[in-house]
Parts: sequence; structure tokens; C-alpha cells
Amino acid sequence: MILNRRIFLGASVAASLAAPMVRAAGHGKPRVVIVGGGAGGATAARYIAKDSDGEIDVTLIEPTRTYYTCFFSNLYLGGFKQMSDLGHSYGTLASEYGINVVHDYAIGVDRDAKTVTLAGGASVPYDKLILSPGIDFVEGSVPGWDLSAQNAMPHAYKAGSQTELLKAQVMGMREGGLFVMVAPPNPYRCPPGPYERISMIAYTLKQTNPTAKILIADPKESYSKQALFEEGWQNHYGGMVERIGPDFGGGNVSVNAADMTVDIDGSVEQADVVNVIPAQKAGRIAEIAGVTDGNWAPVNPEDMSTKADPDIYVLGDAAAQGDMPKSGFSANSQAKVCANAVRGALTGSRVFPAKFSNTCWSLISENDGVKVGANYEPADGKIASTGGFVSQTGEDAALRKATYEESEGWYAGITSDMFG
Ligand SMILES: Cc1cc2nc3c(=O)[nH]c(=O)nc-3n(C[C@H](O)[C@H](O)[C@H](O)COP(=O)(O)OP(=O)(O)OC[C@H]3O[C@@H](n4cnc5c(N)ncnc54)[C@H](O)[C@@H]3O)c2cc1C
Repeated sequence: MILNRRIFLGASVAASLAAPMVRAAGHGKPRVVIVGGGAGGATAARYIAKDSDGEIDVTLIEPTRTYYTCFFSNLYLGGFKQMSDLGHSYGTLASEYGINVVHDYAIGVDRDAKTVTLAGGASVPYDKLILSPGIDFVEGSVPGWDLSAQNAMPHAYKAGSQTELLKAQVMGMREGGLFVMVAPPNPYRCPPGPYERISMIAYTLKQTNPTAKILIADPKESYSKQALFEEGWQNHYGGMVERIGPDFGGGNVSVNAADMTVDIDGSVEQADVVNVIPAQKAGRIAEIAGVTDGNWAPVNPEDMSTKADPDIYVLGDAAAQGDMPKSGFSANSQAKVCANAVRGALTGSRVFPAKFSNTCWSLISENDGVKVGANYEPADGKIASTGGFVSQTGEDAALRKATYEESEGWYAGITSDMFG
């Protein structure tokens, strides 16, 4: 069901009659409310709070108390990270930066009254609202699959229990069994993510179940770092991985979670583990706020404000921003541009021209890291690439090891940039 603004406005009146307003300390200061404490939202909250020196009230709304990064969650599947390595909490944002961290779920945005309604019933006023809710799945994009099937056929595209479930299923596969991935259409979160996942699952199976097979049904003609992944699969896991692209029906897929079958263009595969990564769209609160085009939220590249409302900004995966891939690195980079612009708008502080960057690392096997990246600037109404780089096939082992080590440094850096 699509909630339009009118339906929501009714709901918000009811909620605000019933519940007190949530207020941060220091009335009279400009108020920034941020929905979603992930790569975009946590970064924006921290940068606005730290750079405004108490001049702005910052409220961060995030339902979970521990955020598990999707980045490096594939390395958990490969056995290179523990789940506890991926979990981060919000305590420092509250204690060191004075951010009002509210563990609740935003269910409505009243753009006229400038309030956000929470599932708990409270209403939170804002001067500027930043939405960084990540993704939700497009209903019906994989016939036979919906959220009620996610226990049998996990997506593991929001990290945490789903990732643990997928790993447990891989570890429990019968000898010589079949793992099937239903890969998503563009655009989606983390373009190399499904293929790094295949690499990490192949790495695990090579040790625990070397006669197992991996099949990818893929609706895309090509994908990020394809030549690097294909070379790596051949070198490390020869014969284990097969991909069916759209020319051979890889985009014509349905699943049956009750009997664990996958129908690929009329050919039915009996699978042991099925990882369904559905088509994606902006996290639902962006749609409820009325700032999406139906799927993603179009934004202005100078400051990440939405085309629909100059006081609502959208960061990260949920944004339709131009050339940047939907990645944690991108969301973090966009958040810093946005934080600088929001602070400038509210306090008159200096605003610097927007510049963005991104790098996506992937691990193919132990110490075999590859990367792709680019820099970006606003141009022609979008965030446009000004030039990029990508690892090459045939690189030597020392370079690949150094690339992997670089990614570990990046992970430490981005998580401390987000959570302090
Ligand atoms: C398998 C995998 C591997 C990846 N690897 C990499 C990588 O190596 N490098 C990289 O840069 N990126 C990687 N990514 C992508 C990266 O995780 C995302 O692009 C990034 O997290 C996007 O940030 P975000 O702020 O848009 O969303 P998120 O980080 O998902 O944060 C959204 C937050 O919003 C909260 N939320 C949602 N709705 C509401 C609501 N209504 N009210 C309150 N809170 C709400 C959610 O609980 C969540 O915490 C990977 C992704 C996957 C799936």
C-alpha cells in the first residue's frame, strides 16, 4: 500500500494529540532531525553536532541499538570477520557529541507542521530533516518471494540476523549441495556486493564442502568489477561458480520457498540454500515524506536537499543523486557535504563547494582484494564523476594483499567517522 501525504497528515494529528513532543535540550536553537543511524545518518549527525559547537540541536532517530555494517558482512560469510566485529553502538554520539539519540522508528513526516512522528507516538519538530533510511525491497520483484519467505530464503541485504542465518544455512548444506543466488537488477545497494558474497561463500565451501556448486541467476548484462571476479573465481574456485545472465533467462526467475526450488526461465533447480536479493527502492520513510519519484528520492547535488522540499535532505542509498554507487563510502561522503550545507543554512557558517568520493573494495579470496572508485562533483543537476580507477586483472599477490589491507584501514576509519 502507498501511504500518501493526506493519509499520513490525519495519522499525525491523532498521534500528536496523544503524545508529548520529544525535545532536545536548549529550546530556541535550530533543530536538525536525522532519521536513520547508518552510514549517511550517523555521519551527518556527528558532523553537524561536532562542528556546530552546541549551536544546533541534533536528534538522531534509529530503532536499533546496535548497527551491524553491511560493509564487511560478506567477510563474515567467508570467516574473515566475526559478527561482533560488525556491530557498533550509539553511546559515544550521545555522550561525547550531545546528540539526542532516540531509539524509535519514524512512521510519518508532516511537512507543513515540520514534525516527524515516531512509532512510539511522539512527535519531533525540525527545522531541517535529513533522511538516510537505506533501502527497502520492491514487492513482487521476485515472484514467490516476500518478507515472510526470508527465513527460508534469506536476503542478507540488511546485515545482522539475516547474515547469520545465511551463514548457518551455508555451513549446514549437504555435501555437494547447490547454493543459488537471485541477483538484483540495477540500481541497488553496493554494486559489487552480490559478487563479493559469491566469492566469500565459495571460499567457505571450498573448505567445508568442496563439491558444492554455486549458481547465480542475474538479470544484468554486466556488473561491477566483473572481469576481476571472473578471474578470481577461475583462479581460486575453478568450476564451482556458474552465472546465468539475462541472455539465458537469468532475469526470468521465480522461487518456491516451501519446496526450495528456483525456476530460471522454465528450468527448475532444486536448491539447498537460496539467497534472494530483490529489487530495491528508498527506505519507506522517504516515500511517506513524499520526496521520492516512486522508487528513489531525487536530490540537488550541491547539498543533498530533495527536489521536492528544500528542508528535507536525503542521503545514501535512498537518494537518486547521479553517478555515485549506493555504498557506505558514498553515503558517508554525501553526509559530510550535507552537514556542511545544513550548518551553513542554520547558523551562517561557511559552506564549501561540494566534492564527493567513493571506493568500493571487495575480497575475492584470502588477501586477494580489489577495488573500484571515483571522485565526483555537482554538474548538470546531478553528482557527476570526474574520473575513476579500478584494479586490473593479473595484478601480483603483493598488490592484492595491500589492497585488502587498505580496505581494513577504511573500515576502521569510516566506522569511527560515523560513531565517534
Ligand atoms: C553485502 C553488502 C556488502 C556491502 N559492502 C560495502 C562495502 O564494502 N563498502 C561500502 O562502502 N558499502 C558497502 N555496502 C553498502 C552499504 O552498506 C550501504 O550503501 C550503506 O549502508 C548505505 O547507508 P545509508 O545511510 O543509506 O543506509 P544504512 O546504512 O542502511 O542505514 C539506514 C538506517 O536507517 C534506519 N531506518 C530505516 N528506516 C527508518 C525509520 N523509518 N525510522 C528510523 N530509522 C530508520 C535503519 O535501521 C538503518 O540503521 C554493502 C552492502 C551490502 C548489502
